[in-house]
Amino acid sequence: MAQPIRDFDEAVGRNLAMRIVCGRCAREVLIAARSLRGWVRPGADVGSIAFRCEGCGASAATVRCCEVFGGRESLSSWTPPARPAPYD
Ligand SMILES: [Zn+2]
Repeated sequence: MAQPIRDFDEAVGRNLAMRIVCGRCAREVLIAARSLRGWVRPGADVGSIAFRCEGCGASAATVRCCEVFGGRESLSSWTPPARPAPYD
């Protein structure tokens, strides 16, 4: 995949996953972008979405889109936080 993803909506449209790595404990999760619909602003810049680690509470160090390999079962489950979304 050579083309960069412009925003979250494009990641959903292309059925991509998002790989999120914690900046403190290095916990890594892989989440289907579409499972975050309704929580992430559609036009959000993927790299700037402020995810927070479920394990230690630190901010994510990196957020990147990637292709999904191996089907749905390779995706981590994800529960959006109960608090308001961390953007704006
Ligand atoms: Zn962490």
